[in-house]
Amino acid sequence: MGAYSGQTGSENWATLSADNFACTGKNQSPINLTGFIEADLTPIKFDYQQGGHEVINNGHTIQVNFNEGSSIELDGHSFNLLQVHFHAPSENHINGKSYPLEAHLVHADKDGNLAVVAVMYEQGSLAHDGIKAIWSSMPEKAGETQKLPAMMNVSGILPKSREYYRFNGSLTTPPCSEGVQWLVMKDSVVVEKQQIDAFVNVLHESNNRPIQAINSRAILK
Ligand SMILES: [Zn+2]
Repeated sequence: MGAYSGQTGSENWATLSADNFACTGKNQSPINLTGFIEADLTPIKFDYQQGGHEVINNGHTIQVNFNEGSSIELDGHSFNLLQVHFHAPSENHINGKSYPLEAHLVHADKDGNLAVVAVMYEQGSLAHDGIKAIWSSMPEKAGETQKLPAMMNVSGILPKSREYYRFNGSLTTPPCSEGVQWLVMKDSVVVEKQQIDAFVNVLHESNNRPIQAINSRAILK
């Protein structure tokens, strides 16, 4: 993939490779979630198990890989949890607000269609235990992987309320493929400043793609 700044930065992803043609599409992520349409969304059915087993520093993010067995059900359709990774500052904004950290819980159905649950974190005075469990196994060097001492359940990094916003978007990294269902948790989760700093220090640079145009999309609430 490209970087976030410079010649291979996010503004130039589409020109880096013919595979990245989608990066200039009309349904790109991230966005500023605003102008919501009341939609009476059906609850997401979360079925998360212990399954997070390793933490990877790929140079662009910190990612926890999950074994099979955790899933969500959306409109009666099942998506398996593959991995969770983080962005600082947040990629999506809510009503113009940027958050210091955002998690993306990436799921795929049996045909490879993607659904991403996004969680916003804000800075408070309390360290967050779920984040602590991941950060304590965070490899400092790009390309390194570390085993988690115990399998983790991703429920531990979600807010209590599972109310969400919904829209159609894309991957936020090349090839920027569209057709991704975005499910952004309405409530944010508190983490402490040291936890935000620890992530930023390991990555050395911000890893958020700039906000993309909403165009004719509806943001449902
Ligand atoms: Zn992401």
